[in-house]
Amino acid sequence: MPKLNLIRAISLISLALITPISPAQNLPDLGSPGLVIYDRNTEVSLGRAFTKALHTQFNLVKDPETLSYVRRIGHRIASHTHDGRNYRFYVIDDPAINAFAGPDGIIGIHSGLILAADSEDELASVIAHEIAHVTQEHLSRRFEQQSSLNITSFASLLAAILIGTQNPSAGIATIMGATGLSLQEQLRHSRIHEHEADHHGISLLHRSGYNPNAMADFFGKLAKQYQLSEFRPPEILMTHPVTETRLAQASNRAHQLGIPEDHHDKVNLFLIQQRLKHHAQQPNTEFIEASNPYSNVIQCYKQHISEKNASAACLKEALSQHPNNRLLKTAQIMHGQHNNSQKLPSIEALHAIYPQDQAILQLLAQAYQQAGQIEQAIERLERNPHNHTYQFEIYQKLSQLYAQTNKLAEAYFYEANAYLGMGDIERAKHLARLSNQQNPPISRHLEKASKQLLKALGIDENPT
Ligand SMILES: [Zn+2]
Repeated sequence: MPKLNLIRAISLISLALITPISPAQNLPDLGSPGLVIYDRNTEVSLGRAFTKALHTQFNLVKDPETLSYVRRIGHRIASHTHDGRNYRFYVIDDPAINAFAGPDGIIGIHSGLILAADSEDELASVIAHEIAHVTQEHLSRRFEQQSSLNITSFASLLAAILIGTQNPSAGIATIMGATGLSLQEQLRHSRIHEHEADHHGISLLHRSGYNPNAMADFFGKLAKQYQLSEFRPPEILMTHPVTETRLAQASNRAHQLGIPEDHHDKVNLFLIQQRLKHHAQQPNTEFIEASNPYSNVIQCYKQHISEKNASAACLKEALSQHPNNRLLKTAQIMHGQHNNSQKLPSIEALHAIYPQDQAILQLLAQAYQQAGQIEQAIERLERNPHNHTYQFEIYQKLSQLYAQTNKLAEAYFYEANAYLGMGDIERAKHLARLSNQQNPPISRHLEKASKQLLKALGIDENPT
């Protein structure tokens, strides 16, 4: 988390007065008077406003396969926190090597960081470190008891600082420039929190079955690369100063824990990197290192996504080496079949194996849609077992499908839900009202959900 900038901002702006609650378990007492931990309701409101800022002011990676991959890693690690937070993971489309922990369990990973990692363990180590910032409530422990900004403006500013936007608006730049804290004070806080995040992050990494050495490896490698370079070091090093002590402590901690048994398919990170390079819309001429033990599989996948001309033989060969790899399975299904109705049984079979995988579910809906079977597409999405965390991405598709069949009450209903999921309450209210005003009214099977939505948004169902 970009600590220095954050403190600078928070020294000047802070959140509305918040009732202190009992500190989280195992938190060392920092003893700074004036710092409070905000309550859960405020944290949730701030999280909602932050989510909205994220969706409206930044470029997010929308590739379902990339999201599905990063979220699998994130939720696996978060499941070991047992802190009851609703963790959410987003990928920022930005070449900077950076990551952040926002309010209410929102974790962001920049695409540049995914591209800079050499293994899933390294990527997981950064995610674990950011999750540890959340479990240790580092962000909330920064807020002081006065406020000149409302929660929406505060969330926007917080997002701009954490994400490290390349073009901060003039207003934000002015606030950021006027710093009142001494550099030493900032560093002192920064080091304490970074040490805690390393310490707890490494434990989480280990409990999640990843190599706990990966954190020291990754930060050490980045620091080395930029030591002799004329380029500005990546954001993550600016905010996470890599010292010999820090690396040694991380290594010691990892050494105490030992390396857990291997379990994940190590080729996945490299396949996702190919997807990110492809979606960056720049010609991907990068040479795949022959020293990479998976170079053949990566090359084959690269051809599949960039030129759509991977040979059936290379995909078959790749799958024989990685028989349970869902990215390769999907590639094989999509390969060379131009008739969407022929793909459907295979995608259905894949969906049956991975019912929680939103990327596969979206692929299935898209195949039905392309085959002209809109009702089936809708039916499959509405049958989705409730993965509420990212449900709004499914709602967007549902809204589009209903609009295509001219069912406007349903289309507005799902769009309202999508905006609600993105934290935009005002837009959600507007759309929910529109949905409620349509004639014919919403289908019977959505009536109850529609009433609940109106109630949740405080809308009178029968305006006179
Ligand atoms: Zn950190």
